[in-house]
Order: sequence, then C-alpha cells, then structure tokens
Amino acid sequence: MTAPLSSAQLTGKDGSQLVELGEGAQLHPQAAAAFRRLQAAAAEAGFQLAIASAHRSFARQCAIWNAKASGRRPVNDDAGEMVDLAALSAPEQAHAILRFSALPGTSRHHWGTDLDVYDAAAVPADYRVQLTPDEVAPAGPFGPLHAWLDARMAADRSEGFFRPYAQDRGGVAVERWHLSYAPLSVHCESMLDAALLRACWSGEELLLREVLEAELPALLARYVHVPADWCPARYRRPRDFIR
Ligand SMILES: [Zn+2]
Repeated sequence: MTAPLSSAQLTGKDGSQLVELGEGAQLHPQAAAAFRRLQAAAAEAGFQLAIASAHRSFARQCAIWNAKASGRRPVNDDAGEMVDLAALSAPEQAHAILRFSALPGTSRHHWGTDLDVYDAAAVPADYRVQLTPDEVAPAGPFGPLHAWLDARMAADRSEGFFRPYAQDRGGVAVERWHLSYAPLSVHCESMLDAALLRACWSGEELLLREVLEAELPALLARYVHVPADWCPARYRRPRDFIR
C-alpha cells in the first residue's frame, strides 16, 4: 500500500515529496518513474512526450485564483470569450472561475501525480504551448500523441496514467492534455474533504471565501471529485488507510 500524502502535501503547501524532472517540473517519485517509462514508450512511437506543467503549489494556485477573482487576470467562458465578472453574483463568479481553474488546495497538480503534456516533436522549438482544445484535437499538432495515449490507456499500457478530465460532466472543462497517475491520485482524491480545505484556507488571503465556504461540499462534488470510472477499477480501492 502506498503511503498517503500528508495534509500539507495534499493541499500544495509542502512539496517535500517531490523530485525534479528537469526544466522546473516536479512530480512524486513514483509518478516520475512511471512517467519516464511512458516517455520511453512514446519515443519509440516517434513522440517527444514533454511536460507543460507538473506540480503546482498552493501559493501559486491561490495567486491564480485571486488574480482571476479580482479581475487582474481574464476569466474565459466555454467559447473562449472573456467573462464580465463584475456583472455576475459572487456565486456565479466562483463557478465561472472553477470551470478552468481549481480551488486553491484542491488542484490535482498539488499532489505531484498530475501533469499537463504535449508532443515537443510536433512543434518548432520556439512554439508556445497554449493547452487549448484545438491543439489536442485530431487535426491539431498534439492530436497524434493523444490518439496514441488513448490507445495505450484503453489497453492499460499507459504506466498508470489516465485522463480525469476526459469528459465534460458539468464541472471542470475537458482537458485532454491533463494526465493523472492513478495508483497514487485515487488515494489523494479520496483524502480531500471540506474540513481539510477549511483548515487549509485558514489564515490565507482567498477571494470569494464566503461563497466557497458556504458551498464547499457542493463545489467539491462538482469540481474536485471526478466520477470513479476515469481509470480502470483495479486502481480504485476503498478508503482503507484514511486518518
Ligand atoms: Zn492540468
């Protein structure tokens, strides 16, 4: 049984579980080893499986959240149009941000198990990766890599990496570029609850806090917990070691 992360590691406040993969990317050692195996398999198929973003800290996620909630950073809708946040109620503002940005303390990127990927062999060296649906669509530059990943996942030969945001279920938008190392992340997800989040936010500057705290159980259900079928059943185990 894998050792669970501490509460501070789970919420991105402690990164002591992480190892460096180069160019600033950090992952949990087990996820890093599995990712290197997946990179080697991808290389044999002609892809250069690269990391756009791996671990992200609480401080970084909180800065993103506050920048969006205060209007200093744009919030887009599903069509890619900028949302006029000032015209929305506070709960509506929170939902608009949550479609594309995680609540600080709940990002899967906190755990060191999740990362955003692209195919560096498919674009020029100076290409700026956007992480948009167009890039990962079949005709996009990273479409072939994702088709290859789909086939590996379907055969359970993807070294434990699967897609938690493969389908739009009314919470987080579809993110085909986001991969998660299921053997660890299923446990991380099962440890997150409202009490842990409230403790995590205590003393932090977090905009829209009142709305978030009032709606926390519903927000966790809609935007944080993904339906169990995102990965094969053999990776899913009961909450047998939790606290
Ligand atoms: Zn991601």
